[in-house]
Amino acid sequence: MPFTLFPDARLALARDSLAGLSVGDALGSQFFVPGRRPDDLAAGRLPPPPWQWTDDTEMACSVLAELATHGDVDADRLALAFATRAEPYRGYGPGAVTILRLIRTGTPWPVAAASAFDGQGSCGNGAAMRVAPLGAWYADSTTRAASRARVSAEVTHAHPEGIAGAVAVAVAASLAARARLDGEPRPDVTRLLTTVAGSIDPASAVHRGVRRAIGLLGHGLDEAVAALGNGARVTAQDTVAFTLWVVATHLADYPAAIRACVEAGGDVDTTAAIVGGIIGGHTGVGTPGGVPADWVAAREPLPAWLD
Ligand SMILES: [Mg+2]
Repeated sequence: MPFTLFPDARLALARDSLAGLSVGDALGSQFFVPGRRPDDLAAGRLPPPPWQWTDDTEMACSVLAELATHGDVDADRLALAFATRAEPYRGYGPGAVTILRLIRTGTPWPVAAASAFDGQGSCGNGAAMRVAPLGAWYADSTTRAASRARVSAEVTHAHPEGIAGAVAVAVAASLAARARLDGEPRPDVTRLLTTVAGSIDPASAVHRGVRRAIGLLGHGLDEAVAALGNGARVTAQDTVAFTLWVVATHLADYPAAIRACVEAGGDVDTTAAIVGGIIGGHTGVGTPGGVPADWVAAREPLPAWLD
């Protein structure tokens, strides 16, 4: 059913998504520090603050700034924003460093993005990790969420799997935020994942993974990791389906979802960023089951240029 979503409402949803994304990223990345164990988090022991966020959050802030300022994403502007704001110590992968350097030094983004990985383009999980706030922004249209997610992905990820991963996450975030607007605290998660699967290239491995994730609902975390991956290969194919399984399993419980990402291991800052971004737009901050306010307080402040 079409309805009007005012700009302030879009921004509020996208900001809650960014809160969930950045806290997931920052908390998840703490578990790469030697001596930190997932058991501590399970027992309620949080790492000492501040939790520093990484590339996932930096790029997501650029996506949100673009939407907040212009009401849409423009590929040329977004590519330049990613490239000029990238701080080298935020944990960018070597492929991303190369693409962003090319863009920063004047190479057009279509050339830079296509040059990655011997001309195949990147199928990394980097386009998926930053896109949840865009999905929440388009809570009124999964079609729009999908098409704008594609634009936001293409500037760095030319490979169809990298793009499919971003579209899947954006559509999931759109549906999760929409359920909140509709007053549905517990939407039908099988239907949610089926809609996500229907919005991405059926020939993609990401699509097959999402279908597999639907079949694994109700199964245990170990089984999901064994079948879907945990981001250890940092590809969209071994990250996105797993994150959507976590979302579907813990949609009304942000802390439980982040704990599942930490327990699963792999690319924890990115799986927790994706999961946190989708769930944050659904639950909000400081609500029952939402992003805990004290976790937001423990996260390093977001960049000043975002305000
Ligand atoms: Mg990261």
